[in-house]
Amino acid sequence: MDLNLTDKVVIITGGAKGIGAGCTEVFAAEGAIPVIVGRSPDVGRELIEQCGRGHVIEAELTSEEACKNAIEETLEKFGKIDGIVHNAGINDGVSLRQKPEDFMASLQKNIFHVFTLTHYALDALIESKGFIINISSKVADTGQGATSGYAASKGAMNSLTREWALDLAKHSIRVNTVVPAEVMTPLYENWVKTLDDPQKFIDEACARIPFEHRMTTAHEIANAVAFLASDKSAHTTGQIIYPDGGYVHLDRAYGTVEKG
Ligand code: NAP
Repeated sequence: MDLNLTDKVVIITGGAKGIGAGCTEVFAAEGAIPVIVGRSPDVGRELIEQCGRGHVIEAELTSEEACKNAIEETLEKFGKIDGIVHNAGINDGVSLRQKPEDFMASLQKNIFHVFTLTHYALDALIESKGFIINISSKVADTGQGATSGYAASKGAMNSLTREWALDLAKHSIRVNTVVPAEVMTPLYENWVKTLDDPQKFIDEACARIPFEHRMTTAHEIANAVAFLASDKSAHTTGQIIYPDGGYVHLDRAYGTVEKG
């Protein structure tokens, strides 16, 4: 299936690693021009070299100035923006016991740049009739405990999917969200290493995933993103989809038992 993404300029925040890197690879393979905006520029440049096309803009996305500059640099270099994948984020575990300023800092890391980049890219997206795709988290639906800032940010992302889809429909801009549950990425790997028995945790997590008792791969998330970016989903907007092996919506307790 030709997704007609050739030469589409797509900003991918945090596109150097993990799910973002999967998106960078898939968009490049589809002939699009991935623009990685985020930290770890050396890793990003290596990835873009492997992909054979694209660009890297180093940015700390908690800074409004960095967000504004990233949009300006993309427009100076390519003259247009066809879409943004808001992928950068971190489950930073800010609990109710922590200070309000820690909560605000978590929002700054997880949702501030989603609004800010979209704000500065709006005219370009209107011109291209572009797309916005958010990478949310199961935590917005299921909760996790002791991670108020992240849960609030991803919940806001889901709400903004509906709000922006409605707001921007008049400009033919589609807004959708992809929700990962369990994906082995550098972020996940670093976090799981802090546990006493990482392998036990991974085995238990996989047991709770109804479909094939395995984690979703970064490319499986990226393929869903590419479909939502493409004109094959031309009338799909305001949707929140879950390529998660059934983690969020199917009965996880039932999933651990062999049936059928
Ligand atoms: P990852 O492996 O840490 O990769 C994220 C990339 O984004 C990294 O390159 C990171 O920079 C960059 N980044 C994060 N915050 C940034 C900021 N403020 N400014 C600039 N760059 C920033 O993460 P991942 O697991 O692929 O997660 C990607 C997205 O999926 C996140 O929004 C996460 O919440 C969501 N998600 C992941 C899972 C999962 O199972 N992995 C589950 C649910 C949702 P560094 O190179 O400095 O780390």
